[in-house]
Amino acid sequence: MNTHAIQSTDDAVPDNAHRDDLLASCVHCGFCLEVCPTYTLTGDENNSPRGRLRLWREEADGRLKQDPWTDFYTSECVGCLACESACPANVPYGEIFEQVRHTHVAAGRFKPKRMIRLAAAAIRYPALFNLALLPARILRRTGLLPHRFVFPGRPVVLKSTSTYARELMQQHRPQGPRVALLTGCLMEALFREINFATVRVLIENNVQVVVPPDQGCCGAFQEHSGLDGVDVLRQHNRKIFGELKLDAVVSNSAGCGLALGKTLKDQVPVRDVLGFLGEIQPVCRRRNPDETRVYVDLPCHLIHGQKASGIPSNVLDATGYRWELAPAARDCCGSGGIYNIEKPANSQEILRRKSEFLNTAEGNPVVLATSNHVCMMQWNSARATGIVKRPFKISHVIQLLDPGESLTVRNSDP
Ligand code: SF4
Ligand code: SF4
Repeated sequence: MNTHAIQSTDDAVPDNAHRDDLLASCVHCGFCLEVCPTYTLTGDENNSPRGRLRLWREEADGRLKQDPWTDFYTSECVGCLACESACPANVPYGEIFEQVRHTHVAAGRFKPKRMIRLAAAAIRYPALFNLALLPARILRRTGLLPHRFVFPGRPVVLKSTSTYARELMQQHRPQGPRVALLTGCLMEALFREINFATVRVLIENNVQVVVPPDQGCCGAFQEHSGLDGVDVLRQHNRKIFGELKLDAVVSNSAGCGLALGKTLKDQVPVRDVLGFLGEIQPVCRRRNPDETRVYVDLPCHLIHGQKASGIPSNVLDATGYRWELAPAARDCCGSGGIYNIEKPANSQEILRRKSEFLNTAEGNPVVLATSNHVCMMQWNSARATGIVKRPFKISHVIQLLDPGESLTVRNSDP
């Protein structure tokens, strides 16, 4: 087992002059207001993208002293990036927000909750993080972890995705494009069944899959929280993925894929696995006609962050299920990386507005499918808090394409 820490170097110091230029790019048109979940929730201009940009700019220009208002409204932002998609002036809101949050954390103006600080420190040690979550994996595997905490699933407990992929590659020897899979830290430690399904789907579609065992966290958690360490993680992953001869790196988590895409730009393309499969027309699953209805939700970091138009319809058709986009599929679910921990009341209200349709949705069973494990956890909380009162399943879209047992390796660990 590799228990090394990803070694620390100096973290990036935000370039204030560059940020001031970016702040000046807002033309105050207000097109972003209606898509912003916190503006919709409060009707408060300061709680909108335009309002936050104005507060930051006034501080940067020295027209506003460091103000608790600015700190409060900065902390209220979900980080969904819907404002970027709506903006005709291409204001890079996400980049500005990350810099401001990092500055606020460094100056002590915003202190992420202890749980977030602990998690950010722990994921620098991927193998130990995996070990620490071993009991939780076992509890999920055995079905003993109450589903109000995490959505149901049966992850393999000991075997890593890297080992599994190597075994499956030797058995099936696909000859198509060669990709590396970003396994993600929480995904690999807790939701490994989704990584295993991803490997099976890729190999069934003749894609060569490598899973570097020494890959590190993508850095999304540090970006969301404003904590130090993102440059170290980026440097590490540039080395790990940059040394491989690849057609692409694929990710099954929209947020992780966005973060790694920034890291590997100019090195190797980082693709969302569903978008990648859409281009090679995945093998279709055959289903008996039944009452199952799949409602598809689109993660913010896929459509606003990675600027994907959505999840390809040929991929969704290939699941064999009757599917449709969830109402408000393009709206934020309120998760926002760390927002559901920092601002649980707002987060739940945003989710309530989005998820109530499930109470009366057609289908038996009803499946909510998306492509980001953090969104899956957020949807699961709708069940836990009683927003959605009827039973429904939560699935990653890749799991609906999974050939499952027909492609498993022999002697998989139980
Ligand atoms: S990132 Fe989302 S919550 Fe934050 S200002 Fe933009 S639209 Fe609003
Ligand atoms: S849409 Fe863009 S330019 Fe217009 S107010 Fe919002 S951030 Fe500024």
